[in-house]
Amino acid sequence: MYHYCNTPASLRGLFEELYDVSLIEDRVKALSEVEREVRECRKCRLWATRTKPVPGHGNPNAEVMLIGEAPGYNEDLEGKPFVGAAGKFLDQLLALGELKRSDVFITNVLKCRPPNNRDPLPDEVEACTPYLDRQVAIIKPKVIICLGRHSASYVLSKAGVKGHMRHGYVSISAVRGQVFNVSYEGLKVMVIPTYHPAAGLYNPKLKKVIMEDFVMIGRTLKGARTTP
Ligand code: SF4
Repeated sequence: MYHYCNTPASLRGLFEELYDVSLIEDRVKALSEVEREVRECRKCRLWATRTKPVPGHGNPNAEVMLIGEAPGYNEDLEGKPFVGAAGKFLDQLLALGELKRSDVFITNVLKCRPPNNRDPLPDEVEACTPYLDRQVAIIKPKVIICLGRHSASYVLSKAGVKGHMRHGYVSISAVRGQVFNVSYEGLKVMVIPTYHPAAGLYNPKLKKVIMEDFVMIGRTLKGARTTP
């Protein structure tokens, strides 16, 4: 996680002019507490098979939060979200949206890897998502990008968007690239679902669609910043 206290002294003055530092310090502290709880968590069966939990990583002051499904093989080894091939592709996607990793906060619906990357089970999502909800409430992003069906299903359902739900899940092909203006944890936020980057690694057609979605996300962010 980013730590304000690691900012070189020469930059701190500038930093302090740009941001409300006490607010950032509060957010860093609150996010660190979530991280500590995740590291000790045994609320579902996944603690027993994980190597490292992956609480999330990024800018505590982020305008944009990206939410994936769950850690995969490399994330479980390193304890960081989106490393390996999917992480490299995500960096390309962020660049298409005129974003950098240091601008955003990245996390997952589940903080521990399901064995063999199987889908999250409903009771695991129920046990783990209070951590995600707290991260959203602390960071207060303006935009949430949902990467994949499980993330979009949880976030849209939590935000009361039920129209696209079938048996508790959205069809990601039906909602991708759409902008949902919703309230999540009492926060007004734009939710934009797209496919999970890992899906694009194996399917060139999906890769193109995800890249188009990130170009659109960049345009949407630019529009939102210039709208008074
Ligand atoms: S997946 Fe979530 S609820 Fe389950 S053990 Fe890991 S941190 Fe706890």
